[in-house]
Amino acid sequence: MSELRDLYQTVILDHYKKPRNYGPLPDANGHAEGVNPLCGDHIAVHVRLSEGAEGKLEDVRFEGSGCAISKASGSLMTQIVKGKSPQQIEEIFQHFHQLVTGDPAAPEAGELGKLEVLSGVREFPARVKCATLAWHALRAALEGRREPVSTEAAEV
Ligand code: ZN
Repeated sequence: MSELRDLYQTVILDHYKKPRNYGPLPDANGHAEGVNPLCGDHIAVHVRLSEGAEGKLEDVRFEGSGCAISKASGSLMTQIVKGKSPQQIEEIFQHFHQLVTGDPAAPEAGELGKLEVLSGVREFPARVKCATLAWHALRAALEGRREPVSTEAAEV
């Protein structure tokens, strides 16, 4: 298993150093910020959602400052959610949350693809907030919420 862990570590560091879909999104129609005061992570997510009931996330970018886990998670998230509907994204988030919290209901290995590199977080409960921060910001952006989301707020 240690080889697998090394591989996961390499992927996380790669996404931390070279985050994908990073920066502002000029034609975005939604934005939200997320803060994790416990670690000092601060992430902004920009989305462009297509119009209509069958709306899809046409494009997504993120930016901010934070630890390796929070940035790598944001980078991996943007890759997996692009082109998906808000409902599909919510489903992926629920499964990802189960994965990083070590919930026995977590999906089978393979279902979450690259997001599984973050599965080691379940051994470090304090880092779960780092791993889910970008996701909370994304959900707020998709719902059109204006207030920054904090991992220390009651709802999170
Ligand atoms: Zn962090």
